Amino acid sequence: MSQKVRVRFAPSPTGPLHIGGVRTALFNYLFAKKHGGDFVLRIEDTDQNRFVEGAEEYIIKSLDWCGMPFDEGPGKNEKFGPYRQSERKHLYRQYADDLIASGNAYYAFDTAEQLDAERKAHEAEGKTFIYNWHNREKGHLINSLVLTPEETQAKIEAGDDYVIRFKSPQDENLILKDIIRGTIKIDTNILDDKVLFKSDGMPTYHLANIVDDHLMEITHVIRGEEWLPSLALHKLLYDAFGWDAPEFAHLPLILKPTGKGKLSKRDGDKLGFPVFPLEYTAPDGTVSRGYKEDGYFPEAVVNFLAFLGWNPGTEQEIFSLEQLVSDFELEKVHKAGARFDPDKTKWFNHHYMQQQLDLHLAEQFKTMQPELAEMDVNYIALAVGLIKERATFVSDFWNLSHFFFTTPTSFDEKASKKALKEGTEDVLNKVIELVNNTEDFTVENLQTNIKGWITDNEIGFGKVMMPLRLALVGALQGPDVFDIMYMIGKAETVKRIENLIKSIS
Ligand code: GLU
Repeated sequence: MSQKVRVRFAPSPTGPLHIGGVRTALFNYLFAKKHGGDFVLRIEDTDQNRFVEGAEEYIIKSLDWCGMPFDEGPGKNEKFGPYRQSERKHLYRQYADDLIASGNAYYAFDTAEQLDAERKAHEAEGKTFIYNWHNREKGHLINSLVLTPEETQAKIEAGDDYVIRFKSPQDENLILKDIIRGTIKIDTNILDDKVLFKSDGMPTYHLANIVDDHLMEITHVIRGEEWLPSLALHKLLYDAFGWDAPEFAHLPLILKPTGKGKLSKRDGDKLGFPVFPLEYTAPDGTVSRGYKEDGYFPEAVVNFLAFLGWNPGTEQEIFSLEQLVSDFELEKVHKAGARFDPDKTKWFNHHYMQQQLDLHLAEQFKTMQPELAEMDVNYIALAVGLIKERATFVSDFWNLSHFFFTTPTSFDEKASKKALKEGTEDVLNKVIELVNNTEDFTVENLQTNIKGWITDNEIGFGKVMMPLRLALVGALQGPDVFDIMYMIGKAETVKRIENLIKSIS
């Protein structure tokens, strides 16, 4: 690649960025970074009716959270700016006019009612109405191909509403190329004459997108499969302008966990997992869950997203963003839809949890749990280190570790049945004695003293360890009992064993 790679992520600010959009951004980012190129953010807000306040900010925050900031975009390195299409409005008309002048586009004056009538008339005959070479010059559609230049001019001057349509060629076979899908052949006769410029004075997506990709010197267009049907028109537009087209790569759909159908924004709430990177509050106040707020690490989200459509061709599943940059190849992205697997996402989070510094996790844990407000963060970090291998989220920590911070106030019923036998009281009294006699209160010394006593007296381990655990934890869970005793200290250990004895007698 001799030319500098430039890719763009071009979302429409019509709401929060769905996880599929984040995947598109990620693949663009990876490709750009891999080739030392630029990752551009362009906001495609030509459809004023669907514009949602705050959506752009949400998109930018999501990219930042994932660790893939854009190089160029609104408010940043604006050398090809502006990057919001609404601020480039003045630019597009001239390109639509150029296409009219070159015979590649035309004015169409048909009203919505007239088009609707055409549609119905076709349906009545069992046909589908397509505005293209079939009928554009037959006389019943009103456009500049059938009107004289003077008539057209008169209509425009009279203020009649019009759109500008692309004149799709008849009887041509297009050969399109896609990096992921290979060669795609399209018969132009099936294409409709898409509107390029609307009556409200705004370009449509198709015109603005092509003009901007050209002006912003985009070399590779990487986007979702839903845009594949637009590829033919886009190629025709590049040809009509006489511009070199960028290369295209259409990413596979993301499928529901069942593998059937596309993952939708609504699936998250229905199936109980987030489909948005960050929590989102809609203008009407409804809140949608986000990966961040649900306790996912951005590294885990990036890693699972990378595997939605791509894999390295080896067994390796754990990839940092840097490793992805070096190993990612568009050629290795597959065509088939990628099934979204919420359990795998959790698996990645569990993995990245283990990589985090205990102190860092402890800081998060402390802010989440009011009981920890006064606790020393270093002590919390020690507790976290002992339990995190059982956790997927920081929000799991409290259930796994509360006994490091608070004295059990009750003893689990089932566990009590299992742990408390005849003679338990005597055993516990003996353990208290052993604990009290352990001068240098270390895990090793406790272990030697208590285990030694058990072996010397040929008492079953369970007979001692189960009630001991019950006393310390209130249940039969948790990490090593000697670690717990050491952590809570001698006095608290004795107090907890005494509490259990009291509850038995
Ligand atoms: N604005 C389009 C979208 O919202 C961009 C499609 C493209 O990348 O060409 O997805």
